Amino acid sequence: MNSSVRDDLTNEVLGLFAARRGHFRFESGHHGDLWLEIPPAYIHPERLRRYAIELAKLLSPHRIEAVCGPLVEGAFIAQMVAAEMDVEFYFAEQLTRAKAETLYPVSYRIPEALRSAIRGKNVAVIDDVINAGSAVRGTCDDVIACGAAIVAIGALLVLGEPASMLATSHAVPLETLARLPGNSLWEPSSCPLCVRGVKLEGVAAP
Ligand SMILES: [Zn+2]
Repeated sequence: MNSSVRDDLTNEVLGLFAARRGHFRFESGHHGDLWLEIPPAYIHPERLRRYAIELAKLLSPHRIEAVCGPLVEGAFIAQMVAAEMDVEFYFAEQLTRAKAETLYPVSYRIPEALRSAIRGKNVAVIDDVINAGSAVRGTCDDVIACGAAIVAIGALLVLGEPASMLATSHAVPLETLARLPGNSLWEPSSCPLCVRGVKLEGVAAP
């Protein structure tokens, strides 16, 4: 893919998720200034299918036997990619940990009925957008807890560096259609928007 095609794709993927600036707290507990409205992108699945096809192409060299995505909404794109690759599909459900004041307060768990089926498989963990990476991180942990191997991490859009760091920590490739490298993400104690007294607007994944 040449660079202008890649820029067009980045703009298209960004356009799927209505982006706006403000002061937000993410599922991970981090604060940031960019909000992506993800659920409406899924209202028309056919619009997303061509991106699922592109992501499936990027993932195809990695000898993937199964795809796993976090609910919600990453599992929806993960399922489309699994269908394109003709591999198995799994999902992980969100659980809130008791100590909600720490970073990454949410964990993910593959349902009991799927845990033995995923064991021993080569798995790609896929989400729509990876920002702080709470959902992908939690899903990776549980894929490993099930006795499966992570062989790739995939996304339509990656914000900043956490997704690359997560992929490096699992020693797997990160495949994404689009990247926004310069995204701001702060721990609450060092958030410049909090210091300036800017009101928090909401809580959202990813
Ligand atoms: Zn803040």
